[in-house]
Amino acid sequence: MSAAAAFMVAAPAQAQEAERLTDTLLLKNYRPVSIFNVPVTRVDRAKYPVIDMHTHDYVDTPAEVDSVVAVMDACGVEQAHIMQCNWISDPYDVVKERYAAYPDRFKLWFCLDYTDFDSPDWTERAIAQVEKYHEMGAVGIGEMVDKGLGDVYALPVEGRGIRLNDPKLTPVLKRCGELGLLVNIHIAEPIWMYEEIDCHNDGLMNGAVWQVDTSAEGCLDYDGLMDMFEEALSACPDTKIVACHMLNMSHDYPRLSAIMDRHPNLYLDISARFVESSVTPRATRDFIVRYQDRILYGTDNTPDRDMYRFTFRIMESADEHIYDEGYSYHWAISGWDLPDSVLRKLYRTNALKLLSGK
Ligand SMILES: [Zn+2]
Repeated sequence: MSAAAAFMVAAPAQAQEAERLTDTLLLKNYRPVSIFNVPVTRVDRAKYPVIDMHTHDYVDTPAEVDSVVAVMDACGVEQAHIMQCNWISDPYDVVKERYAAYPDRFKLWFCLDYTDFDSPDWTERAIAQVEKYHEMGAVGIGEMVDKGLGDVYALPVEGRGIRLNDPKLTPVLKRCGELGLLVNIHIAEPIWMYEEIDCHNDGLMNGAVWQVDTSAEGCLDYDGLMDMFEEALSACPDTKIVACHMLNMSHDYPRLSAIMDRHPNLYLDISARFVESSVTPRATRDFIVRYQDRILYGTDNTPDRDMYRFTFRIMESADEHIYDEGYSYHWAISGWDLPDSVLRKLYRTNALKLLSGK
């Protein structure tokens, strides 16, 4: 018997099967189950009342709106802000009518109409549009999305090349600031979606699905997008701009902190980046505590009980090594364990301040 074989505990058949599995199991099929006997916190209802500053219109009928309200009631969500996306949303009026039974529970945002963007009077017409929506009670412009090719919701001009720092947009954004309207924009994507999809990619399973192709002419890469965004922030310092998904920069808090410090008009929402930012729970906690007055709670995902409860658990608990079928990728995550005073701000009071124009 060889020395190595003397230490083997598995029967030869089992050892063979284990070897076969490690050679053939695909990463996409790996479903580890935590074996750790560590606290598992169940948060049915958020610790404090919640304003969800980033959701979408996921329903069609009044009965479905009622069921969303039931979810919100069960989870402690007092208000949800519905982002519009020009060509995938119903028109603003239709959405407004859909939620009309609950004017205090749902607030609407709007998208700009870029029709005839090249004509000399576009800016003037867009400002008129902003004023009209303001009168109709809209909260702000959102969600704009630029992953490299300009605002992707910028149809009907094919969503190409219109950027937040475009001089034609600057007066429109400034007018928003004067009226107390907010702007919500999705810039870039998590960094691994711009990197090589290979065995070194830290977010491979996520990056492979959402990889961003920047090879098209005129497409900005990650850094180019951030530079563009900072120019837009500088151009309208009195307009409050919310970068959703933590500006897709939760992998690099020193860099994100520097951008926050350069632009006091920049706010973040944490929607749809709970999993991305929970691989480094201590760094995330430190960052959120530092910028606790400029970070907003949001979800972005279909509003059901499990989705809300998952986000509350991440924010409120110190649970470790969490695998969650619905919301995780191929990594385990941990809770942020936010202090109560910070939770209160993220859940509600920061939103109230922004909504009241402060
Ligand atoms: Zn969104």
